[in-house]
Amino acid sequence: MTYEEAKKQYLDRREKTNAIGLGFYLNSLDVETGVAPSQSFAYRSKQLEVLSGIIYDMTTSPEAMESIRVLAENETEDQALLHEVRLAAEQAEKLAKIPKEEYLAFNALLNEVYPVYVTAKQTSDFSLFEPYLQKIFDYNRKYVNWVGGEKQGYDVLLDEFERDYGQKEYDEFFALLKEAIVPLVKEISGKKLQFNDSFLQYEYDKERQLEFCEYLREVCCFDRERTVMLESEHPFTTNNGSHDVRITNHFYTDNLSSSIFSAIHEMGHGLYELQVADEFEGTGSGGGASLAMHESQSRLMENMIGRSLPFWKAHFPKLQSIFPKELEGVTAEDFYKYVNRVEESLIRTEADELTYSIHVLIRYEIERAVMEGKVEAKDIPALWNRKYKEYLNVDVPCDKEGCLQDSHWSGGSLGYFPTYSLGSAYAAQIYRAMERDLDMDTVLGGENLRPLADWLKEHLHRYGASKFPKELIRIATGEEFSPRYYVEYLTEKYRTLYGI
Ligand SMILES: [Zn+2]
Repeated sequence: MTYEEAKKQYLDRREKTNAIGLGFYLNSLDVETGVAPSQSFAYRSKQLEVLSGIIYDMTTSPEAMESIRVLAENETEDQALLHEVRLAAEQAEKLAKIPKEEYLAFNALLNEVYPVYVTAKQTSDFSLFEPYLQKIFDYNRKYVNWVGGEKQGYDVLLDEFERDYGQKEYDEFFALLKEAIVPLVKEISGKKLQFNDSFLQYEYDKERQLEFCEYLREVCCFDRERTVMLESEHPFTTNNGSHDVRITNHFYTDNLSSSIFSAIHEMGHGLYELQVADEFEGTGSGGGASLAMHESQSRLMENMIGRSLPFWKAHFPKLQSIFPKELEGVTAEDFYKYVNRVEESLIRTEADELTYSIHVLIRYEIERAVMEGKVEAKDIPALWNRKYKEYLNVDVPCDKEGCLQDSHWSGGSLGYFPTYSLGSAYAAQIYRAMERDLDMDTVLGGENLRPLADWLKEHLHRYGASKFPKELIRIATGEEFSPRYYVEYLTEKYRTLYGI
């Protein structure tokens, strides 16, 4: 097969795979936003199995493997294409090592799990979810054996979620965080920030929360012609290229800040997708570079921007105009302190920035034990509750607020959680680089975040997934990745806030 023949075949197949991907995209949106009736799952599951089979056959046929090999082995001017096909070659080789019937059965299982998981969470009944979770653990253990080469066990999964990060790197990373943050949390514990908390007694109407989220959409430069905001149990971002980006939110009438920070977080993810260079649309380089890089963008937006004082000085008046009675007498400073207070908490997604990584560390340790075969699905609730007591000094009252709170495992994924903390560390380093070019107080206090969005586009977003995360960090910051920026950021922020 010549290079040109291989390229034509590859591009043709990529177009077909993308088209089939639209089916998966719309299906999962339909299911996760509650649009699909519950009786539709069984038939959908069969249809998706057929689509998975088509993709599997297309990707693993001898012809497909040959064309990818030819492309991957030949240097070309098109560096993005070369990067893409080398990854595709790796993935195709992995896929070919998975027995087809196991692969299809697992995909079918995943399509069945989500509604079961939602019911288990709603009723706080882990026993409904347990048999599915055990199958997911079993599959992951088999999977690392099938595809593992140089890397083994949990490292295989970790590396898939974030290239070049395995247990060695994460053990060191979490050790540094533990060393710096655990003593700081202890120092802060028992200290209370003083602020006017009169607004906590009110109920917050969903429609008006939505109105403020629409306002934030303008602030965050979240282009209306290419984005949609929806509702789901657990907020997420999904997209079909850079011209169709959707974020979801969940509204609690007894919690004003939840939907605000979910919206800002998901818009951080969304902005990344919106700002990938047009030339990458429909290619393997379209979209964010990695999970941690994606999470760095959502966390930069949510925490460094959305939880800053200049930001709230600029936008609190709008929030107050939407909830005049509820926020009467409350200042931007009060709200800033409220959204940055440190608390021993049960729920990862509601945790403050400082203790957040401890939530992640707990999941990392549990997953590592699962992949070492030391823990089974039935052991999860007790282990979970024990670790929460040990690290965060909280008693978990029910599995809904414990091991059923996150949907990741129900999606079949182990190895995902650590990327959240790594993303926060990337964010701190990127933010520091941004500070060298922009006057951040002015940017944060502005009507919208256009200068920041433009900076991110120029230094990071436009590259999409055309390079690996480590290189992108070098491009964006001029340095190698270093977690010390994250530790410095947290230490400085919380010492100032708590006056210690
Ligand atoms: Zn996120």
